[in-house]
Amino acid sequence: MAASNKYRPTVIIVGAGLTGLLAAHGLQQNGFRVIVVERESSIDARPREWTMLVHWAMPIFERLVPEHILKDFNDALCNPHLEFNAEIEKLPCYNGITGDLLFASPVPGSRRVSRRRLRALLAQDVDIKWNMSLNSISETENGIKAEFDNGESMEGDYLLGADGASSKVRELLLGPDKARTQGSGFLFATGITNYGDADKVAAIEAKHPVAALMMGTSSVGAVGVLSADNASDKSTWSTFWVKIWRGEPVNLRGQEALDYIRHHTVPLRDVFQSAIDWTPENSHVSVNEMKTWTPVPWDNHGGRVTLAGDAAHPMLIYRGQGFQHSITDVDNYIAVLLRLEAKSNGASTNGTWTTNGALTDSLPSREELMRAHDNEVIKRGATAVKQSLLEAEKSMDIETVKNMLMVTKGHGK
Ligand SMILES: Cc1cc2nc3c(=O)[nH]c(=O)nc-3n(C[C@H](O)[C@H](O)[C@H](O)COP(=O)(O)OP(=O)(O)OC[C@H]3O[C@@H](n4cnc5c(N)ncnc54)[C@H](O)[C@@H]3O)c2cc1C
Repeated sequence: MAASNKYRPTVIIVGAGLTGLLAAHGLQQNGFRVIVVERESSIDARPREWTMLVHWAMPIFERLVPEHILKDFNDALCNPHLEFNAEIEKLPCYNGITGDLLFASPVPGSRRVSRRRLRALLAQDVDIKWNMSLNSISETENGIKAEFDNGESMEGDYLLGADGASSKVRELLLGPDKARTQGSGFLFATGITNYGDADKVAAIEAKHPVAALMMGTSSVGAVGVLSADNASDKSTWSTFWVKIWRGEPVNLRGQEALDYIRHHTVPLRDVFQSAIDWTPENSHVSVNEMKTWTPVPWDNHGGRVTLAGDAAHPMLIYRGQGFQHSITDVDNYIAVLLRLEAKSNGASTNGTWTTNGALTDSLPSREELMRAHDNEVIKRGATAVKQSLLEAEKSMDIETVKNMLMVTKGHGK
């Protein structure tokens, strides 16, 4: 159902990450006017890249993205040359002690994408104002005002905080202490590698043509394909490796990060370790501590402001749930805004018109409707954050790996 075409309510989205851009498309398709504000200077400003599996929320994702953009979804796939079937749509995990296959988690219909290429795809047809770092928000008579570091300001009917794990919007809604992320005690290292060597790429691909895991020692590993532009020449492909362990917080890049991994972590085995050892100089390598924030109720400014994606529930990467919840948040957000707009246009909150077209006091207020929406995000998000921490704990020992949700429930909700 599209919002009234007489007046197009404006939604200011803070953050042009995947959550913000997806929300922009979903809202635009439903008749809203959207402005995305982003503190970075351009789409290419940040060199960070990672891969992610889109799985249980894929049907929602496909509904939110307009067809003319969705048709190019393959451009974002890490390895687009595969014939997807039940074997490919699995995430195998190898035993870190023996090297044998430990389990393979079925992820039907899933696709692994490059975060950078998916973001570029979703940035199309969205009005993004770059170099706009949010500073403050305030309620106005009819909406919400956002002010930015560069002195500019803008007003809208609603504001969505999609500004990532260290969200400024969250800080403004809750205060810095309550909004602060917590260190998890788990360090995450990743390397993006161009070996220029088809045999090395083939060794990674042999574990699985999309991605594979290794667990069972005090280090968790992963390897996979990041981009495979030329199907016939694997020496041109980019690959990635990941290593996770428990340790003291550090934040390192490049050779320093590689040296730290060598001296402070238990080696993996087979290609999971070789992939790290083969890392060419000047590769993008980073190590930092993974952080979480368990959602608690925030001030929604009379139903005008809320949070979505990592801003609402930054979690560890276990079971690849973060983006699935972002997609769910966006879908639910659009639903609540449509109900609010139906209400302010004289319709009842379930979308049917009242007899006289007027608002009635018996209907929930904007703040109450948004509060109900927020409560669902908070409950679902808090569960996922907690599960991601428990998964990390269990992944560090071969005895507890078998109790992980990844094993008992797979990658589902
Ligand atoms: C290595 C890795 C692997 C992952 N694997 C998976 C997976 O397999 N499956 C899965 O579902 N999820 C996965 N995730 C999680 C997923 O990537 C995130 O949940 C998702 O990308 C979050 O997107 P976001 O838009 O909410 O946040 P972000 O990507 O952080 O975007 C936030 C944006 O807001 C901007 N911003 C911040 N502050 C301000 C401000 N004050 N003013 C204006 N703009 C601001 C930032 O510059 C940024 O562009 C993974 C994450 C990582 C790191």
